[in-house]
Formats: sequence, C-alpha cells, structure tokens
Amino acid sequence: MQEQYEELKRRLMEVNDLQSANSLLGWDQATYMPAKGAVARGRQIATLSRLAQEKFTAPAIGHLLDDLEKYDLPYDSDEASLIRVTRRLYERAIKVPPEFTAKAAAHTTEAYSIWAKARPENDFATVQPYLEKTLDLSIEFANFFPDYDHIADPLIDGSDYGMKAESIRQIFSELREQLVPIAKAINEQAPADDSCLRKFYPVDKQQEFGEYVIQQFGYDFERGRQDKTHHPFMTKFSLNDVRITTRFQEHFLGESLGSTMHEAGHALYELGINQDYEGTPLARGASAGVHESQSRLWENVIGRSRPFWEHFYPLLQETFPDQLNDVDLDAFHRAFNKVENSLIRTDADEVTYNLHVMIRFDLELQMLEGELAIKDLPEAWHARYDSDLGIHAPSDVDGALQDVHWYAGFIGGAFQGYTLGNIMSGQFYEAALKAHPGIPTDISRGEFGKLHNWLKDNIYQHGRKYTPDELIERVTGKPLTIEPYINYLRTKYGELYSL
Ligand code: ZN
Repeated sequence: MQEQYEELKRRLMEVNDLQSANSLLGWDQATYMPAKGAVARGRQIATLSRLAQEKFTAPAIGHLLDDLEKYDLPYDSDEASLIRVTRRLYERAIKVPPEFTAKAAAHTTEAYSIWAKARPENDFATVQPYLEKTLDLSIEFANFFPDYDHIADPLIDGSDYGMKAESIRQIFSELREQLVPIAKAINEQAPADDSCLRKFYPVDKQQEFGEYVIQQFGYDFERGRQDKTHHPFMTKFSLNDVRITTRFQEHFLGESLGSTMHEAGHALYELGINQDYEGTPLARGASAGVHESQSRLWENVIGRSRPFWEHFYPLLQETFPDQLNDVDLDAFHRAFNKVENSLIRTDADEVTYNLHVMIRFDLELQMLEGELAIKDLPEAWHARYDSDLGIHAPSDVDGALQDVHWYAGFIGGAFQGYTLGNIMSGQFYEAALKAHPGIPTDISRGEFGKLHNWLKDNIYQHGRKYTPDELIERVTGKPLTIEPYINYLRTKYGELYSL
C-alpha cells in the first residue's frame, strides 16, 4: 500500500505545483504586472490550468484510488482522509468535459472584461447577452451532476461542500427573521457619527499600524507578506508562503484596517494547516464558508470588539494624534461599528451585511430555476433593495452591476459562503469561549495566543480533512445553528445602541 500511497502523493504534488505557479502568476497580475502584460498572462494561466487539470484527471489517479480504497484505514487517519477527499474531487473533475471547461473559461474571461468597462458606464444592456450565456453555461455545468435536488446544488457543492440550496434557504430565512428587527431597532436611532474615521490618514502610517496588529494576531511575515491591490485577497503558494493584499483610502481609516485583518484571518487558517499535508488536496481550508468564518472572526468578532480597542486605541491615537486625540474610546468604537442600510455589500456593517448576501442568493436561485430572466435582473435587484433595505440605487452601477462574481464565474454558489461564514464565526467563537473564558481579557491586553492556539488545534490544522458539517459538529458539538451568532450580535449591538 505504501508504494501506491506515495505514488498518489507524488502525482498530487505535481498538480499542486502547477496550481501554485498559477497562483503566483495571478498574484503578480493583481499587484505588480504592467497592464500590457495581461494578454500573455491570460494565456500562461490557461496553459497551466489545462496541464494541472489533465494531470489530475489522468486515469492513473483513478486506478491508484481504486487500489487504495481496498485498505481498511481509520476514517480520521491522514491516509484515509487524503484518499477520501481526492476521490471526491476526482469524481467531480472527471464529470466535466475539458472542452466545456475551456469554453466556460474563455467566456468568463471575456465577460469579465466587458463588465469592467460597462460598470462605470452604467451599461447593463451591453453585459446582458454575456450574462445570458453565463446562465446557460451555469445550467449546463449543473447538469453534469444530474442527481441534484436543486439545480444550484452542484454549483454550491464546489465552494461549500455538502450544503444544499434547500438547507441554506432554511437557515437564511431563520437568520433573516432575527436580523430584520435588530437592524430596524438600530435604524430608528440617530446614526453613529463616523466622521473621526473620515479625516486624512497617511497611507504609510495606516500600513504600519495594520501590519503591527496582524503580527500580534500571529501572522508571520517570514511566511507571508502584504502588498497593495484593487480588490483585497489572500493567496497561497505553499504552507510557508501565504500572502495577503489590501487597499488604502487616505480619507477613510476603516477600509485598509478592516481588509488587512480580514485577509490575515484567511491567512492564519492556511498557515495553521498541518505541514504534513503540504502539496496535497488536504492543504487548504474546508470550504468557502469555513474560510470566511475565520476572516470574519478576526476582522469583526475580534478586530471590532471593545476589548481589542481597549488595548489598541491608545496606540492608534499615538499613531494619529492630530486626527484622534479629541476622540474618546467610546466614540471611536461606535464609529468603527456604525450600522446603516447601504447599497454596497463589501462596505456593509455586521448587522446588515447578511441581508445583501441573501438578496444575491435568492436572485441566483431564481435565475437558475428559470423564474427570473437576465433582462429583468436590474429591476428585480432594485425591488429587493427597496423591500429588504429600504434603499434604491440611483443606477445599475451599484445595483446588478455591483459585484464581480457573476461576471467572472458561474451564476450559483458564489455568495452563500459569506453568510455561512458569519454564522459559523459566532458558533466557533462561542466554543472557544467555553473552552477559555479568559479570551476577552487576554485580548484587552493585546494577547491572542490562547485563541489562536485553540483555532489551530480545533480547526486550522485539519485543513480539508473534514467536511464543513463534520468540522462544525466536532468543534462545537452540534450542527450549524444561528443562535450563537444572533446572541453575539444582540449583545454587541444591544450595548452599542442601548437596545
Ligand atoms: Zn473573505
């Protein structure tokens, strides 16, 4: 068995190396590449993707899996887990014909460039035929997996394995029922004053402060780095090279600090994975939702908490004395947690954020079900913002053209992970506090070791060994539930807004 197992790992490592080289090309494209390098870069990325796909779907991998599955190994063992997870990914990969993958990739590349130009011009009519084709391709993709209950399931499965449209719909509607009254009660009050965040903040000082904070979280600059980009992201080339990117606004302190803590949360997850998994499909996060639970935990649950700012606010004042010396901790903390119904998902606060996600999730399902035609999408978008958030975008720029997801990939499976991650962040943090009630006191002293170690032991080290459902059950002793997250929001915003 050992020989076959090593052979499987050797082949998977080759696939991984091609994918990592591709990630490096992508990182460079989003950070330092000159604009005119784009055409050749697109071709290079396509070549490496094709090679990786060919190597991964080679019949030899299937034969090795057939042989290795005959051995009776404990479910929890690294060997059984690698075989199980590889089988799952292999079965998914071989069901999709390479010609389809190439056709879809070529289409989304084109759709993305059309959208990038059409969005600033508020030109939905130009993207409409591209989006119609994207919808056709998304349906075609789903039908490579005809056993689904809902046509969105195969698309959801790729990012949040094991979750289904129906179960997500159920949990989202429970969450919505609880969230809407909280948002409403806050909106009935005078809005928080966040003018202290909107002064002039020199970029180099912002960067210095943000990097200091994430180093205290445990982000290791010998195993990563931070660079500037347009849309912040985390990327990984190996378990010892996990990089993050951020963007700065000179007149808004919230932007880079929030995104730096967010992406560092994603990075801490990857950096905490068992080093023995390097180069295998186990060496990554369990799902989009679990990943997002970690970025949101570090950014929001920790980085926007009162104990966090009790420790860091004096340092922030020292860094920006002219801007903040006349602003007290209470006022700053309130500003940094301002709640308001807004048009842009990525700028939304913790309370209203999930309402943005639910709108997109529902629209995706309706499009896939054939209930909503692409030509009617802009109106459907506005109608949902009217009814759910009570605001109306002046155009499609901040309406149906707002997010890149449908213009750079399939329709379906793109948004649910954000809200699943929020829900999980509450459930995981509750479990961490149960194990170590002293965590908030530690945080108020700028100490994150206990929390970070608990996350490593319980979540990070396992990588993709367990499915999201298995992981949640193992870590918290129960299936996914909204209760801890709702309790967290009620307590925090109850205090901030005296509800
Ligand atoms: Zn994220």
